[in-house]
Amino acid sequence: MLRFTEMMNGAGLTVDVNSSIKYKTPFQEILLLETEAFGKMLVLDGAVQTTEKDEFIYHEMIVHVPLFTLGRDVEKVLVIGGGDGGTVREALKHNPSKVDMVEIDREVVELCKKEFPEIASGLDDERVSIFFEDGREFIKGKKGEYDAVIIDCSDPVGPSAVLFSEEFYKDVKNALKSDGVVVTQSESPFAQFDAFKVVISNLKKVFSVVRPYLAFIPTYPSGMWSFTFASDSKDPLSVSPQELAERLSSFEKNKGRLKYYNLEIHYGAFAIPNFVIDKLNK
Ligand code: SAM
Repeated sequence: MLRFTEMMNGAGLTVDVNSSIKYKTPFQEILLLETEAFGKMLVLDGAVQTTEKDEFIYHEMIVHVPLFTLGRDVEKVLVIGGGDGGTVREALKHNPSKVDMVEIDREVVELCKKEFPEIASGLDDERVSIFFEDGREFIKGKKGEYDAVIIDCSDPVGPSAVLFSEEFYKDVKNALKSDGVVVTQSESPFAQFDAFKVVISNLKKVFSVVRPYLAFIPTYPSGMWSFTFASDSKDPLSVSPQELAERLSSFEKNKGRLKYYNLEIHYGAFAIPNFVIDKLNK
């Protein structure tokens, strides 16, 4: 039996592997593993991106927290990165009229459509347009177009590094409607604290409401993962539980019960442990 070990500041994962395929694209190294514990696993430049068994946690949390916070019909969503398709699949559950996805690496999308058909199931929906280009360039000059921008990027090395800067967040803000919301994956506060802190401090330079939140994701470094919500007018913690319960119940009537996100998770995810607060305040 082969083994794959993710090298991530000592907090990476080791899994037994039945088979693997590795190749290079112009942007990154792709590794597709068939693992004992998590089913198929996509690894880019040595970092785990998604697995069949635990993908729902990441994708539900990056989409439903901001879209339920928006609290009105969702018209247009932009996903930056997200080549596996899971974020688009979840965003479509909010019945948007349009979802744009901008992914730098066409080969990630092609591989995921073939190897992860359940995760990529929304990518052929007629409301979805996929642009194969750099998200940083794509968003420049866009004005008041999107209800939500979801930054589903990889770690801040290689092509994703530009998606963590203050200048990029300024362009994201311009691309949003005035009551729009943005969320980004913001790394592991335990294993990648510096990157987590950079996201929060850069978002705070641009948006008035900035709220990090957590989810437990077994295959990500240390398991403790974060996302950060930002907006100039919406706050996930100002939505009343009664209102959110109503929104969720009408969603569930049409789309069924989600696997991870629920009313308690919506608020509980924003509870940040003391060691993280103390390091942020240092
Ligand atoms: N769930 C993941 C995580 O946090 O590990 C992210 C998944 S998704 C596969 C990340 C995608 O972002 C990759 O497919 C990568 O090609 C894409 N990406 C990286 N930099 C990008 C950029 N500058 N513009 C658009 N897409 C980018």
